Amino acid sequence: MKKNLLKEYRKKRDFQKTKEPKGIERKPRKQPIFVIHKHAARHLHYDLRLESQGVLKSWAVPKGAPKKFGEKHLAVHVEDHPLEYAKFKGTIPEGEYGAGKVEIWDKGTYINIKHAPLETCIRKGVVSVKFNGKKIKGTYALVHFREKNWLWFKTKER
Ligand code: MN
Repeated sequence: MKKNLLKEYRKKRDFQKTKEPKGIERKPRKQPIFVIHKHAARHLHYDLRLESQGVLKSWAVPKGAPKKFGEKHLAVHVEDHPLEYAKFKGTIPEGEYGAGKVEIWDKGTYINIKHAPLETCIRKGVVSVKFNGKKIKGTYALVHFREKNWLWFKTKER
């Protein structure tokens, strides 16, 4: 994996105080995973995380996964999280970054529909994936529009 992908993640957290994983460097796998956390921080939100480059590329989504065609949900790109974070649930202590309860809302595998690595799609601002989760299934797009802001919406099967 590329060095320092987790630098920002680690800098924000005091691992003496939070039980979140510090993370170790991992090699990319053939069948990438995703997880959607439900995070009752100061403002309840969901965190969409897609495995790429041995880490979890992450977006904070205030309204969670879009349910119908035509719904476009704001997704704010946040720092890469370690792969182990996919298993994390628990309560981040008061006073720590992201303090509050973290639950796993859904998890599973995904397929990158584009003919480019996911990190390249992210750099270019258009991500298209098919989710195979329990609650979330089918194809969705994430499209960058400004600074860290993206839109997340359902797309038709191709
Ligand atoms: Mn969060």
